[in-house]
Amino acid sequence: VSYTAARGWHDAKICPRRPLMLDPAASVFHYGQEIFEGMKAYRTQHGDIVTFRPRENARRFRDSARRMAMPELPETLFMQSLESLMACDHAWVPQGRGQSLYIRPFMIATEALLGVRPAREYQFIVIATPAGNYFDKACVDIWVTEHFARAAMGGTGAAKCGGNYAAGLMAQREAAEQGCDQVLFLDAATRQYVEELGGMNVVFVRDDNTLVTPRLTGTILPGITRDAITTIASYLNLAVEETQIAIDDIFEGAQSGRYREAFACGTAAVVSPIGRLKRRDHIVSFGDGESPGPVTSSILENLTDIQYGRKPDPYGWVETLFRA
Ligand code: PMP
Repeated sequence: VSYTAARGWHDAKICPRRPLMLDPAASVFHYGQEIFEGMKAYRTQHGDIVTFRPRENARRFRDSARRMAMPELPETLFMQSLESLMACDHAWVPQGRGQSLYIRPFMIATEALLGVRPAREYQFIVIATPAGNYFDKACVDIWVTEHFARAAMGGTGAAKCGGNYAAGLMAQREAAEQGCDQVLFLDAATRQYVEELGGMNVVFVRDDNTLVTPRLTGTILPGITRDAITTIASYLNLAVEETQIAIDDIFEGAQSGRYREAFACGTAAVVSPIGRLKRRDHIVSFGDGESPGPVTSSILENLTDIQYGRKPDPYGWVETLFRA
């Protein structure tokens, strides 16, 4: 779907995947006006194609657009794009545990423009690819970076824009060099407080059956999975604390057993248990560091049961994109 300031959104079409033709001066190449979403479509046992809280993705996409001085895409257009894609061909949505179609809606500034100002022309595009589990291991190891910050107050941390990820790539590389699977960012100002992972939110399980996760202060992405988990928690008799979390307290708590479990959560990673945290030359593990704990496992099971339509959805989170 194209956008110009004069015509608004127009010319929606579905076509085979092909390279884009863009002017080399297109604003996206120079000033990074780009936002995206990540979602999954699942095939239920009845053959329906469903997706999880798509209107939340549509809302976050509008929030990201506003932050990046881009036009807002109406929810109806966002939903229609997904539905028409599935109506056109849904054969690529795989079936089976952990299998899904990963859907990537994104918007780029296409106006040829060398001066710095918000562009007046955009394209909204949706691509998709079948996906399995994000990690190929039971528990992931996390590196706590101190050199690199992802987002500062007043920055774009709460928006899902490409620049945030570009800013984190060096830290991701650092994590890999340390033998870790993901990076944990601390707050940009003091480097004392936990923020989030490269592409996931983070939750710690305290021994008083409380899920502890960083407060949304504008520097981390308000994850839809994170929100779903904090909602499911009460059903599982878990309390939730959204608060400022000192990394020192996590290391101390993991050692003393006050924090027995931790997990990463997001659309791609779903709920991925964290085995170890590594910072400078300190390593702590949650549980035995190798196998998922009971709270994490039960959250994963309850969430995916709803997502795949194996259990009733009391929250109205699952929307059917295509009925078999
Ligand atoms: N934080 C970051 C930086 C992410 O990229 C993602 C994935 N979109 C998340 C958190 C989790 O968000 P969600 O649960 O909406 O996928």
